[in-house]
Amino acid sequence: MDAAQVVVVGSYNQDYAWRIDVAPQAGETRRGEDFRSAPGGKGMNQAIACARQGAATAFVGALGDDAAGHGAQELARAEGIAAHWLVRDDAATGSACILVEASGQNRIIVALGANERLDAAFVRAQAGVFARSRVLLAQLENNIDATRAAFELASAHGLIRVLNPAPVHAQLDAALLANVDILTPNENEFSVLLERLHGERIDADSLAQRSDADLHALARKLGVGSVVVTLGSQGCFVSHDDGERRGDASTHYRVGAEAVKVIDTTGAGDAFSGALAAGLLRLAGRPFREIVQHANRCAALSTEQRGAADAMPRFEAVAARFGATG
Ligand code: ADP
Repeated sequence: MDAAQVVVVGSYNQDYAWRIDVAPQAGETRRGEDFRSAPGGKGMNQAIACARQGAATAFVGALGDDAAGHGAQELARAEGIAAHWLVRDDAATGSACILVEASGQNRIIVALGANERLDAAFVRAQAGVFARSRVLLAQLENNIDATRAAFELASAHGLIRVLNPAPVHAQLDAALLANVDILTPNENEFSVLLERLHGERIDADSLAQRSDADLHALARKLGVGSVVVTLGSQGCFVSHDDGERRGDASTHYRVGAEAVKVIDTTGAGDAFSGALAAGLLRLAGRPFREIVQHANRCAALSTEQRGAADAMPRFEAVAARFGATG
């Protein structure tokens, strides 16, 4: 059977967002405006980014039996994603309440709900999906046991295993990282992981100013074959283990950010990881640097649109804007 598929094991959250002058104090009711409800969750955002890059994409996740959950199922169908849902009757679909103050400050409440009830047994029951896949992409918005099961299954089936360690989970440990081929932290996640796992305190805000040799040495401490640290408006930094360079000539290098007219960077990291996973399929056999360059372009383009899932660009749009990758 054709194994040309990316499987995303991840979250779905329904976002509920309001603009408001200032957030209410305890006991106070205030009027908000511009209410918007939109699909979100790092897992589904990344699956949509991946599918829109033209990679066959499967999704494994959990929903509540409610209106938001039904909307998620419809969305996956509309995006051409082959979704395998665990529908829980004991939890609501994940949700996020987002207040955007006039100052630009966000206040967010996330209730992971059903995402935390995605269980290892359900993931293991999807062995057939893994057998048909070449790449696993996961994040940390689910029950960590389910995520561990996904990486074990991916290892058994010889998939390329990609973890976007967001948001950093207290139980993310060296044992889980040992099952990861490519890690895609942003600056904050990278610094939290180094401190948590290695007691190494570094300043996330000045990370991009460090020398390449320094960044490479820090990345190597995480014990993952390839680490891609996303650096926001500074692009990203790639660090490979010397023995596994994924077709690259160098063990480490930077890819500078593309020049874009930024409107909203929400979901840029999701665009990056989703496009990277798609590139591992669509650009298979090409040097990793080209796959990263493509992800960097997708992420940049996603910042020119408002929203997260809605802002994921299509392969043709990326090619039209930046030319063919390579
Ligand atoms: P996260 O959203 O997880 O915090 P980053 O802020 O590091 O992730 O952004 C992810 C990627 O999005 C970057 O590596 C880069 O490719 C792209 N990106 C983010 N901000 C910009 C920007 N201002 N200009 C161009 N590209 C950007």
